[in-house]
Amino acid sequence: MIEGSCHCGAVHFRVDWTIDELTTCDCSLCEIRGALMAKVPEAALEVTAGADLLTLYQWNTHRARHYFCSRCGIYVFHRKRAAPDHFGVNARCLHDFDLASVPVRATEGANMTVEDPTPRDRWPGPRVPNAGHATDGDRFQNRI
Ligand SMILES: [Zn+2]
Repeated sequence: MIEGSCHCGAVHFRVDWTIDELTTCDCSLCEIRGALMAKVPEAALEVTAGADLLTLYQWNTHRARHYFCSRCGIYVFHRKRAAPDHFGVNARCLHDFDLASVPVRATEGANMTVEDPTPRDRWPGPRVPNAGHATDGDRFQNRI
């Protein structure tokens, strides 16, 4: 059993599941919130406090249900779009769970959108950090 909470502590939950991997996702929402997630069956997630403070955000197809603490704004978990009987739990909210103890897998959420007119037909591989971007050294060199 793993306990979890949001930043302010109003929302508390428990996960009764063995977490053996974490995922990232490249959809626009996961990218901006920096989500590191654990997939758990819905029966394995129990909200033990603050359920009334959860607020729901939905976008795009409105199938996934993203829950946030309405007090501190932290994303705690979401009901998954591709697997609606599962939740993605914000692994950074988990107490006494070593994030480095399990592998992290990059998943592709960007192509799930039905609003994308040109979806890629296969996973292009993990993103390369800073690919195509100037380094800080390049950026500041001309100013010295
Ligand atoms: Zn909170």
